[in-house]
Amino acid sequence: MDIYSFSSEVFTQDEDVLDVLGYRGRRLMHLSSLGIPILPGFILTNDSLLAELDSPGTNNSAVQKSIKNMEDVVGKKFGDPDNPLLVKYVLSPQLNMIDTFSSLHNVGLCGSTIDGFASFVGEEFAYHEYRNMLRRVVTLDLEVETDVNRRKLLEKKIDSLKSCTNAEQTKSTLVELEGLYPQEIFADSWAQLEFIQVLYTKYLKESESINDSSLLVQAMTFGNYGKKSYFGSFFTRDIVNGENKLDGQYFLNSFDATSSDGKGIDTISKDIYKDLNSIARLLENHYKEIRQVKFTVEDGKLWVIDQQEADGKSTQAHIRTLLELNEMGVVKDEYLINDIQPTRLAEILHPVIDRKSAQNLPSSRGGISGSVGAAVGRVFFSTDELMKEYRIATQRGLESDFILIMKSTYAEDVKAIEVCKGVITIEGGYASHAPVVARSLGKVAMVKPELKLLKSSVKIGDITIKEGDYITMDVTSYDKPTIYFGKVDLIKPSIEESGILEYLNIVQKFIGDFDVHANADQPKDAQLARLFLADGIGLCRTEHMFFDEERIPLFRSLIITDDMSDRHKILDKLGQMQTSDFYNLFKIMEGHPVTIRLLDAPLHEFLPHTRDSMQEFVAFYRKDHPKVTEAEIRLRCDMMGEVNPMLGHRGIRVAISKPEVYAMQIRSIFEAIYKLKVEDGIDSRPEIMLPVVMSHREVKTVRFGKRIEGAEILGIRDIEEAVRQKYDIDALPYQVGTMIELPGAALNADKIARYADFFSFGTNDLTQTTNGISRDDFNSFFTDYNEYDLLERNPFKYLNGPVKELVQIAKERGRMVRPNMKMGLCGEHGAEPENVSFCMDTGLNYVSCSPYGIPIAKLAVAQYNL
Ligand code: PEP
Ligand code: MG
Repeated sequence: MDIYSFSSEVFTQDEDVLDVLGYRGRRLMHLSSLGIPILPGFILTNDSLLAELDSPGTNNSAVQKSIKNMEDVVGKKFGDPDNPLLVKYVLSPQLNMIDTFSSLHNVGLCGSTIDGFASFVGEEFAYHEYRNMLRRVVTLDLEVETDVNRRKLLEKKIDSLKSCTNAEQTKSTLVELEGLYPQEIFADSWAQLEFIQVLYTKYLKESESINDSSLLVQAMTFGNYGKKSYFGSFFTRDIVNGENKLDGQYFLNSFDATSSDGKGIDTISKDIYKDLNSIARLLENHYKEIRQVKFTVEDGKLWVIDQQEADGKSTQAHIRTLLELNEMGVVKDEYLINDIQPTRLAEILHPVIDRKSAQNLPSSRGGISGSVGAAVGRVFFSTDELMKEYRIATQRGLESDFILIMKSTYAEDVKAIEVCKGVITIEGGYASHAPVVARSLGKVAMVKPELKLLKSSVKIGDITIKEGDYITMDVTSYDKPTIYFGKVDLIKPSIEESGILEYLNIVQKFIGDFDVHANADQPKDAQLARLFLADGIGLCRTEHMFFDEERIPLFRSLIITDDMSDRHKILDKLGQMQTSDFYNLFKIMEGHPVTIRLLDAPLHEFLPHTRDSMQEFVAFYRKDHPKVTEAEIRLRCDMMGEVNPMLGHRGIRVAISKPEVYAMQIRSIFEAIYKLKVEDGIDSRPEIMLPVVMSHREVKTVRFGKRIEGAEILGIRDIEEAVRQKYDIDALPYQVGTMIELPGAALNADKIARYADFFSFGTNDLTQTTNGISRDDFNSFFTDYNEYDLLERNPFKYLNGPVKELVQIAKERGRMVRPNMKMGLCGEHGAEPENVSFCMDTGLNYVSCSPYGIPIAKLAVAQYNL
């Protein structure tokens, strides 16, 4: 048999049969099997359609039998002059694709049934439906007609039908139409059905879809069939926040979903609501996700027309659905892990835009996503202006939603990034300053090379944004970022209510022994990291601790002063600050490892970059050094400038040229852990990390110290001992490790491993030094490379071949010397699932990423392990 009926009573679950029903047929068969009050129908398979082509009428008796089933379920009769059953024809191809003739409604409506139908829905609606049905029939006919003259005639008739606006006009147009077709199709429902079925089959043959399509016939009901009738649609729960509550509208005695008098689904009659709710639960249990359902209530009886995946559901809503299904035992933990794409988790942790409110705003799509989320605010083009406005706003208790737009940012701009909602730079890329800082602070960031920075405005295409104008940034992990020119409503996340923490508890069960650490340097980052079950801090970038307004002038003074006693005074002050910074981090991390990377930023990055910040600094410095002239200060700053700062005076090189700076930091680390041990009994696990290491000699020197004539570098070992003696306490174990950020270091890994307890691959720098591309300037040519297919993906986001090879070589060589050496990756690549897989394949022990990346990396690890 090649015709299959479906209803909540009659269905098949035979996979071989389901395979030939097309995607719609298959879906309706599933729904029927769930016992949902689906509108009954039947499916003519592709074989039965081919048979129909060979000998017309072959299927007639099976079709009649199937319609009889439908009549029994719906309680109406096909062709009944008083209350006729009408049916629709719908294509059911194997794959979900668009076809102009995907459906034809109201088959059975003809001269003998229209008055009966009109007695329920009114004459105008009845003729409107009749007219539309006939127009579709003529159009379908046109598709298969080859005779030029008849085609012209058909086109004319379509136009006449189109121009009808009421029942009277329709009636007279019908008379014209009658000459073109057999009389019976206007008088007898069965004759009409047979005619349409043959026409549809011919169309399928002409359009070459007959070989992979079935034809579905389904009963129709109407939400405007009298007082106890409705039409509506709903999501099985709230698609934004996932609350388990139907979310939709219904229209009383109506058939028009666009009419403005829709009412909230929660106000529908209690009995119907109860039924809809059970249908919703059945569907969610079956499909394991939120669904969208279309229904009618015809004269008090509920029918489901169809249902489908809920378009536009948020990740939060999906996760909450899965968590509930998991609690009810419908889905296993493993299902939860595999059903979410890790990068989608970023959406839960940041505000997202409310798409409805963005609809009418001009926008510009494109650029590079730096840090995911949505932000609305007034724009400012410099840190100074933004900070000025920020102070005024906070003093006056005014709203302070700001967005910083700059060519590129430096250390002195971090304070503005900290207080603003989002940052846009014109230059740079995923691993350049603004995105890195924004990710660590949970701010939104993007790079938009198309922006043109003018004096007090920026231009993009025809649009000019002036200082103080509102814009909205929408940055996602799965699409290009968009700027909206105006204010869009945001949907703010609540980590506690989002379900992410419960979800992470499940993910944690599948993590195994691969760790995920946080790149964190502020207490709030560390707290967030713990909330997300981070195994420790894998990278505390200490240079970020000098960026605040109180510290940066002190640090600048340290860099430019050549008076040793002056330097020590400043270092004492900074040392106290650092001790308290580290103390707080160790306390929050309660014995989990904390990797503190000693200062790593090109020194000149700390110096003033704008006129205003230079003036402020000159005033600050001259307070304590009145004899030093402004010109002298400027000169000293200028002398620090470097041609290629990324390969310049940074990282461990500072430990050799200005050992007292690293000594201050090392002392502060041990002060912090021993103080914490004395005060709170916490056994901290410090890991001191040395950046931009080139050779084992540097590591040996910093770890064990070195004396030359007239000068000395104090080693970590000596400093620890001195601090411990001061506290008179037993030693706490600590580790000293290095970043591997240079190809030379990777190749020398065996030698370096003699002095380092662990390696952390700094793949931001390793990518730039291996490929010879700067993380800040790379985007000036990346798009061209991309266009010519020379570089498919951004190597600062996805580890590229040579970098991976160096990581593998370093791992091999390092472990030859220290077989169990701990190794991880802490560059911005760390939260990208495919990089996580690479690290796991290679045998590293952890990745470290920004706190907001932790859930993503954890999920990637769990998926790898499953
Ligand atoms: C790196 O280079 O990958 C790294 C983590 O260090 P930073 O980004 O601070 O240079
Ligand atoms: Mg680095």
